[in-house]
Amino acid sequence: RRSGEMFEFQAILTNLIDIIINSPYRNSDIFLRELISNASDALDKIRFLALTDKEVLGEGDTAKLEIQIKLDKEKKILSIRDRGIGMTKEDLIKNLGTIAKSGTSAFVEKMQTGGDLNLIGKFGVGVRFYSVYLVADYFEVISKHNDDKQHVWESKADGSFAISEDTWNEPLGRGTEIRLHLRDEAKEYLEEDNLKDLVKKYSEFINFSIYLWATKEIDVEVPADVDESSEEEESPPESTEEEEREEGEEKNPKANTVKETSTEWELLNDVKAIWLRNPREVTEKEYSKFYHSLAKDFGDDKPMSCSHFTSEGDVEFKALLFVPPKAPQDLYENYYSSNKLNLKLYIRRVFISDEFDELLPKYLSFLKGIVDSDILPFNLSQEMLQQHSSLKAIKKKLLSKALDMIKKLAEEDPDEYSNKDKTDEEKSAMEEKRGLYAKFWNEFGKSIKLGIIEDATNKNCLAKLLRFESTKSEGKLASLDEYISRMKPGQNDIYYIGSKEKLDKFPLLEKLNKNNYEVIYLTPPLDDEELTRWLTRYKGRVFKEE
Ligand code: ADP
Ligand code: MG
Repeated sequence: RRSGEMFEFQAILTNLIDIIINSPYRNSDIFLRELISNASDALDKIRFLALTDKEVLGEGDTAKLEIQIKLDKEKKILSIRDRGIGMTKEDLIKNLGTIAKSGTSAFVEKMQTGGDLNLIGKFGVGVRFYSVYLVADYFEVISKHNDDKQHVWESKADGSFAISEDTWNEPLGRGTEIRLHLRDEAKEYLEEDNLKDLVKKYSEFINFSIYLWATKEIDVEVPADVDESSEEEESPPESTEEEEREEGEEKNPKANTVKETSTEWELLNDVKAIWLRNPREVTEKEYSKFYHSLAKDFGDDKPMSCSHFTSEGDVEFKALLFVPPKAPQDLYENYYSSNKLNLKLYIRRVFISDEFDELLPKYLSFLKGIVDSDILPFNLSQEMLQQHSSLKAIKKKLLSKALDMIKKLAEEDPDEYSNKDKTDEEKSAMEEKRGLYAKFWNEFGKSIKLGIIEDATNKNCLAKLLRFESTKSEGKLASLDEYISRMKPGQNDIYYIGSKEKLDKFPLLEKLNKNNYEVIYLTPPLDDEELTRWLTRYKGRVFKEE
């Protein structure tokens, strides 16, 4: 290591790195996905700045927004380079030496009392950049930002890192190169074929070209006249056709070609964005994989639902929305004060922002997805963009599509009520989806209740999506429609009570019992009073507390 200015990692980070290094966690492949994803984020950032100021891109190769991977078998170095935004010295210290994610300390604590590194995703963190320690004990980050000189950041797995002004490497122009000095056990990442497979597997949806400096075997034709036998051939001997054919076979064409190797940049990915493709040609598996790369959630769970559509007419845009398989642990923490952002906004294929909380109402912030608009202008500030009239139209359309998607999830889940008028065939087709809406309700039910409070316009549509247990639901979930369909003659109102426990305590239910009326249990999260203050009637029926 060269001597540079020395820094200590934030203590929690040292712990995290120890955990990574000592973990028996075998899927070390993920480091590649994390590095490519960081490179892609950095390229998005510079492309975004270039929208309003072309100069930032620089000239020649520096302006090429791509990712390059190189292998050095002898020195056992794998390097990944991007021409993204780069990092200043300050950035290097801050971004690579501290970890801002809130779940990190919880995760590290958990690990110290004995846990599995695989759990990390559940804490909303991720080993992210530090996954490099899965394969390297020593690595360098060389980075050049437009506002600073080129610097080298280097670290061994020892709790500290060093930064020096870079006076010895080739100038990067702009961007970042990560150089991993691979451990012996990680030699497999020096195999070109293995690396190609991994890039294909993990980076299918990266919107920048990824190149590998790859060896190619090429057949070099040796001209016939170099061959010694060629002179004899100039005056072909008189021969029968058969003899000629035999001779031809002897002169195996391979004898005239020589294998040579050369190295060149090989493109590893197809950069066509999935949302631009025709929905009919995209498979469920591709959507699922795209979801995982978008959400940076690489569990095995499929998203519960997906909606891919093009909006034409007054507002042109394409969008892909997903209901995630699980709610993040902190979904409702600081619900009213925080901006939870899950949709990525693109304008004409250029990534603009994922810090744009204006696209969906708050209660739907659990959805993930992307929106790509053809009509929004590039050169507006975030504030001006939020005021743009087209954005209002986009929001309206997105909201209705999002609600449709959830409605469909509910309709496809065969509860007793919705099964009533279905044919056997329809029922068996629905069997596949059994329990899916109940699962949705478990994860995101509170969001629907919040929607009823926040979104007066769609209150009725949301009320249809509510599920309850009741005195007659036999432990299953029932909808209000189901409740109404079971009403007794003479019953006009919808009866509810705060909890099962209350029910036992209140003998005043006598009247209801006598008439065999069903009673809904309104349970937290979001208590009864709160919800019924906002939803006082459904399909003309009044909510009554008993
Ligand atoms: P995340 O990508 O979730 O922010 P990481 O641990 O992967 O977390 O990266 C930490 C930070 O380091 C990034 O947010 C970014 O600011 C910076 N960074 C990492 N790689 C690069 C890169 N190739 N170019 C520029 N900045 C980078
Ligand atoms: Mg990252």
